[in-house]
Amino acid sequence: MRLWGGIEAGGTKFVCAVGSGPDNIVASTRFPTTTPAETISQAVAFFAAEATHYQIAAIGIGAFGPADPNPASSTFGYVTTTPKPGWNQVNFAGAVQRELGVPIGFDTDVNVAALGEQRWGVAQGLSTFVYLTIGTGIGGGIIVNNQRLHGLMHPEVGHMRLPHDWVQDPFPGNCPVHGDCWEGLAAGPAIAERWGTPAEMLPPDHPAWALEAHYLALGVVNLILTLAPERVVMGGGVMEQRHLFSLLRYEVQELLNGYLPLPAVTETIDGYIVPPALGSRAGVLGAIALAQEVSGTVGW
Ligand code: ADP
Ligand code: ZN
Repeated sequence: MRLWGGIEAGGTKFVCAVGSGPDNIVASTRFPTTTPAETISQAVAFFAAEATHYQIAAIGIGAFGPADPNPASSTFGYVTTTPKPGWNQVNFAGAVQRELGVPIGFDTDVNVAALGEQRWGVAQGLSTFVYLTIGTGIGGGIIVNNQRLHGLMHPEVGHMRLPHDWVQDPFPGNCPVHGDCWEGLAAGPAIAERWGTPAEMLPPDHPAWALEAHYLALGVVNLILTLAPERVVMGGGVMEQRHLFSLLRYEVQELLNGYLPLPAVTETIDGYIVPPALGSRAGVLGAIALAQEVSGTVGW
């Protein structure tokens, strides 16, 4: 059976799987992200063992970053300037390719998760959309005209700058680089630090959520106005608070103030700003979709 491999390479854990889509995963494993040598070897060993049972046509990698997803670059497939100890300038895709001898697809974790949602999830049939994760940080994968957006490096939407009303919200933000960028104000650790309670412990009527919806809406409105996405998919631990979606959709409409008189934004916004359909599997399934793309087989 001809199958594909996927690696969701996160800063805290790796998820690896072999299969052809959401309904056909024949093997999977997960392990903590330690040193590059140890972690990449564990991934390689998993696929080498599975390759004795299945023909693995290609492997897709969705990597934490910053990383180099540009195939024309001399450092394509590297994790580049990450602060994560040991991972600076690591030729990740090259190491996997050398050991396993199959074509490798490589992109950022969020671009790959976006691809997964486009192939099998809530972004099917869309050519321009945004996939956001609101978790330990804020990350955004962007697909424009059916191409994963890379550009100068890759988008880093989590570090965009937003208005911060210091009277309403004296919390200075906790991004080590910018303080009060989007992620410094609105990712899970910012919520926990501002209110002294982990986000998952705050009750639904806590004022934290109105403020969170406000910050999320500011960022989402900037993305809507800049990229004209056909849908905005929002996942990650913080978005497990499903009541945030209605607060956020309302705030987006308030901030746009009628400027986009489109049914998607005015009447059917419940279908415009949505949770991912693949949930926490978007990353590893997207990596399999990427492997299918590089092996010249889309789907099965
Ligand atoms: P990661 O970003 O590391 O991949 P997550 O997307 O799970 O992982 O994000 C972890 C962050 O999300 C933490 O800051 C945590 O407090 C927050 N979080 C996790 N689950 C919930 C929840 N049910 N409600 C609110 N916040 C949550
Ligand atoms: Zn920042």
